[in-house]
Amino acid sequence: MESIEPLGKLERLGGAAQYDMCGSCVNPKGDTLAHRQRGEMGKWVYPAAMPDGKHILLMKVLMSNTCENNCLYCVNRSGKDRPVLSFEPEELSSLFMNMFNGNLVQGLFLSSAIYKGVNRTMDRMLRTIEILRCRHRFRGFIHLKILPGADLGHIERAVKLADRVSVNLEAPSGARLKRIAPEKDYTEELLSRIQYLSGLINKANYGRRWGPKGQTTQFVVGAAEEPDTEILAVTKNLYDRLDLSRIYFSAFQPAQDTPLDALRPTPFLREHRIYQVDFLFRRYGFAMEEIGFNGKGLLPLGKDPKMIWAENHPERFPVEVNTAPRRVLLRVPGFGLKTVKRVLEVRREHKINCISQLQMMGAVMKNAQGFILLNGVYPGKPLSSQMEIWEPEKVHFGESTIASPV
Ligand code: SF4
Repeated sequence: MESIEPLGKLERLGGAAQYDMCGSCVNPKGDTLAHRQRGEMGKWVYPAAMPDGKHILLMKVLMSNTCENNCLYCVNRSGKDRPVLSFEPEELSSLFMNMFNGNLVQGLFLSSAIYKGVNRTMDRMLRTIEILRCRHRFRGFIHLKILPGADLGHIERAVKLADRVSVNLEAPSGARLKRIAPEKDYTEELLSRIQYLSGLINKANYGRRWGPKGQTTQFVVGAAEEPDTEILAVTKNLYDRLDLSRIYFSAFQPAQDTPLDALRPTPFLREHRIYQVDFLFRRYGFAMEEIGFNGKGLLPLGKDPKMIWAENHPERFPVEVNTAPRRVLLRVPGFGLKTVKRVLEVRREHKINCISQLQMMGAVMKNAQGFILLNGVYPGKPLSSQMEIWEPEKVHFGESTIASPV
């Protein structure tokens, strides 16, 4: 193992943690770049959104950089000739507390490559957090990665110590995962751990007076040639059946000197469209069947998925802004959650009469105007005169019956 001072390790093990998006900051509109921004501290400080909407700076770091697994997209996989770097629990906890006391970070994201066994690695990660919680009395945010195949006892310790935990699925099925991570067992090592966590977290949250614990996962988008239909069907099931807090999507970008380095990178716009649908599921009440896909099962890149739905459902429009219920207003393109909240508040006091009022509430009128009425009158051109139905012969809508392992 290479001998190197703690800050040097942080620089290198923080840089190696960048590929994990879980817990990173994604703007509510599914911004493709916000979650890749880093702090001024270089490679190891990331902004992260908390459940209450606040943002904090996380120290994001690996316990070790050398893995026994051979995931084909990963820079830390086995068989690479590189110096082994690893933190000791005492060393990492002291380093974190120095950064925390210096006001450089407010929370910790701890992951690791699997070095000398899953259980040994999990034990060292948990020991680091125990030192922070018990000896340093750190009460701030900690996100802990659960390694594939982690022992159930370690998972129970993790739920007691961390605010967020995550098991990365990376692919929407066992067959897809085999193509990019041949040694991981999708059902036994990943999905069963997510299911176990789901039960533990529900129990842990029972009667809690402060923020809920939660679990997240991540998909690598595009590396296993999976269509968006597969990723989104599993995503919807994970939210509905296992109560995941968030799911992150990472457009595959080939890393140098990996077996997949010749694959084409996935466009960030594809990741962005998937995030938009994720928001439609979680915040706007959309079902899988309402999402439009092209003939290859991909989301059309050229148009917002909510706009595609609206243009293909002219029978649902126009919507009268002054009387429509919340769930109907949420379906209007250009009306976000905050706009709808403001509309409901304002119209309790008086009628909304003009476009500028809606704009002040955050409505994007170029998207909304053909779909709404203000006091019975179109504020812009009527839908039928301006709408170009989005390639109806090429768009089909999702199916709830798409095979899903969850
Ligand atoms: S388990 Fe796979 S993705 Fe995780 S560090 Fe090891 S090789 Fe990389």
